Amino acid sequence: MKEIQTTVLIVGGGPVGLLGAQLLARRGIEVLVAEKYPQRLDSPKAHALNPRSLEICAAAGLPMDEIHAQATRKADGAHVWMMETLSAPPIGRIAYERQDDAVRAVTPWPLINIAQPQFEEVLEGAVRGQPVSPCVTG
Ligand SMILES: Cc1cc2nc3c(=O)[nH]c(=O)nc-3n(C[C@H](O)[C@H](O)[C@H](O)COP(=O)(O)OP(=O)(O)OC[C@H]3O[C@@H](n4cnc5c(N)ncnc54)[C@H](O)[C@@H]3O)c2cc1C
Repeated sequence: MKEIQTTVLIVGGGPVGLLGAQLLARRGIEVLVAEKYPQRLDSPKAHALNPRSLEICAAAGLPMDEIHAQATRKADGAHVWMMETLSAPPIGRIAYERQDDAVRAVTPWPLINIAQPQFEEVLEGAVRGQPVSPCVTG
């Protein structure tokens, strides 16, 4: 077994672990992220990043253009559809939080829809690009 020295060990390379690594690495603190799975799981998880989460991402120096490039088109994530089966015609729909441009009066970052695995990819790329070269295992 190889012995590895690090200042901070983060167990789990999900959004919280990766964002934590990003924040530490930006402050020059050496950090190691240990992730259980060698490949990112693509099972259903988060899809919505709300304004506050996006504000934190921007403050953490994440590439906001890349995050937005991975998000669905606004029209594809604007409603919650009610259906009995995926192939049946929809019974109805309700608007899914506000995503209109008027929201920009209160936040620079209105809600977006981005699959969690894709968000994690962007996060991991940012973490790996930090000058202290935090290591992400897996
Ligand atoms: C169906 C679904 C829909 C959701 N929708 C939304 C949404 O729209 N918006 C939203 O904000 N949130 C949503 N959530 C919640 C969101 O997914 C979680 O809040 C988020 O994933 C928590 O991040 P995390 O990094 O704490 O944990 P996780 O994402 O669970 O990451 C933990 C990581 O740790 C790893 N791990 C576990 N055990 C070990 C170990 N022993 N050693 C090493 N690694 C380990 C795991 O493999 C995983 O990669 C949703 C969740 C689900 C399930």
